[in-house]
Amino acid sequence: MTIVFKISDNLKDDMIKFYEDRKCEKTPPYAIFQVKDFDCVTTLYESGKVMFQGIGADIEASYWIEEERIKNGRLIDLNGKEKTKEEKIFYNISTIGSDEVGTGDFFGPIIVTATFVDKKDIPFLTDLGVRDSKKLTDIKIKRIAPQIMQKIPYATYILTNEEYNKNWNPELNMNKIKAILHNKVLSEIKAKNYPSNKIVVDQFVYPAKYYAYLKDTPNKVTGITFMTKAEDKVLSVAAASIISRYIFLKEMAKLNEEFNLDIPKGAGPLVDEIGIKIVKEYGFNKLKEIAKLNFKNVEKIKSGLK
Ligand code: MG
Repeated sequence: MTIVFKISDNLKDDMIKFYEDRKCEKTPPYAIFQVKDFDCVTTLYESGKVMFQGIGADIEASYWIEEERIKNGRLIDLNGKEKTKEEKIFYNISTIGSDEVGTGDFFGPIIVTATFVDKKDIPFLTDLGVRDSKKLTDIKIKRIAPQIMQKIPYATYILTNEEYNKNWNPELNMNKIKAILHNKVLSEIKAKNYPSNKIVVDQFVYPAKYYAYLKDTPNKVTGITFMTKAEDKVLSVAAASIISRYIFLKEMAKLNEEFNLDIPKGAGPLVDEIGIKIVKEYGFNKLKEIAKLNFKNVEKIKSGLK
């Protein structure tokens, strides 16, 4: 593991002092010092860049990342990436945010969740390690989601496969479904009048298109900030993403139990294989209850039956 970021000038001397006793006699070119611990090599360069390398890099870097946060208000993550001014603003205010899962998965429902994260709950979430849920393992999701759901207000909607297949038509593309469901959970949370400063949606379509999809929907939530990769930047979106994924995992576990199979996520070849197995045993109609029938997998499953 390698973590690199630029240390602020006011921490440079602290860092030099901190490592003074342990520094190697020889330093690499353009380096001020280098320290070789058994689990991490730390190098400070003249440019101000500091590099942590080794299995202990995250622990070693965390100390300085925390110092940067306390002394300079900088938010640096363990990839060495720093949040921009706009991202920092959204990170430090009360927000409503929403995110969904299941739209790319042939099997299983679509889950959309909105949360309200009050400013005062930000440390609670950061201590739990809430980051982009895509980077969290299922085990971690299962551990932290119930704690989040206990403390953070949320609204969630499970679009079952039956409901999805009944309502699906070519004009109702996936983005329109998403827009309607995001609006549904957002309006539910917004109706509770929490003191949020901003509403953020993880952007999946241009804002104008989003609102166009809601043309016939009552209770349109407006004034949304659309942001790409919002789950990295806004805690309410990150929390919504984690809750959605947690509920999705539970729904998939139910399916696994029902069919005594390990039902795969996504829409790849393994999905076709399992689909064929299920249709052979339970008939094609069973898919209506557990899968999204507009996916191309259906054709592959049909041809696999021959
Ligand atoms: Mg998303």
